[in-house]
Amino acid sequence: MSRGLPKQKPIEGVKQVIVVASGKGGVGKSTTAVNLALALAANDSTKAIGLLDVDVYGPSIPKMMNLKGNPELSQSNLMRPLLNYGIACMSMGFLVEETAPVVWRGLMVMSAVEKLLRQVDWGQLDYLVVDMPPGTGDVQLSVSQNIPISGAVIVSTPQDIALMDAHKGAEMFRKVHVPVLGLVQNMSVFQCPKCKHKTHIFGADGARRLARTLDLDVLGDIPLHLDIREASDTGQPIVFSQPGSDEAKAYLRIAAEV
Ligand code: ADP
Repeated sequence: MSRGLPKQKPIEGVKQVIVVASGKGGVGKSTTAVNLALALAANDSTKAIGLLDVDVYGPSIPKMMNLKGNPELSQSNLMRPLLNYGIACMSMGFLVEETAPVVWRGLMVMSAVEKLLRQVDWGQLDYLVVDMPPGTGDVQLSVSQNIPISGAVIVSTPQDIALMDAHKGAEMFRKVHVPVLGLVQNMSVFQCPKCKHKTHIFGADGARRLARTLDLDVLGDIPLHLDIREASDTGQPIVFSQPGSDEAKAYLRIAAEV
């Protein structure tokens, strides 16, 4: 558990914050964040779980969690999260039109992130899973410096180009004293549903090698699987819609580790 920097202020009502980050976009960070939140809830039904999407340029949580609409305001003028599958969710996607491009300057982005961090009435949460934007920019730094974070989960495919940026991400968290809980290797293997042949489209074990270099754990290995993609696209994440599947079990194991 991070001791916290002097500037840091906890989010009201939230016990633990886990950030899900990646160096590159498109490696499965949001898919992991969504399924991790659902898996934390599935592993222990007494825990209250929230999901905060600070990927302000490309918010995926509304679609993946099948949520739409504007948050209501509480009496103290805080935004109330939208709820689905038992998870309290907040996203920039609830505040702007679905197809509207976010063409803000840096300061506007930071003020939006500040709103998402401070102006949400989460009630009481055991875990808040935060879906970060890809990379190591202002938003990642600002989130890491403003709230105490229990740990970061870094998602990467086993491909060199993704691993290079995942490495930078892990180093950034270390610099700002956020404990890195480990790496999730995503899309490491594709098994043909017909002939059962396995192909390592993005490489086989790059994230494992990076984990060894950085002295980090590999929290899990998620295959490239049609059901994971379809489940996300239809807003019924695999941990919710197919909890008994091998793919859902992989996320449940990751949740048991964090
Ligand atoms: P990021 O948040 O890193 O940009 P996403 O989670 O949005 O990445 O995933 C990018 C795309 O890849 C999405 O269409 C998602 O459904 C798909 N995807 C992610 N992980 C897997 C997986 N393990 N198997 C199949 N599709 C996946």
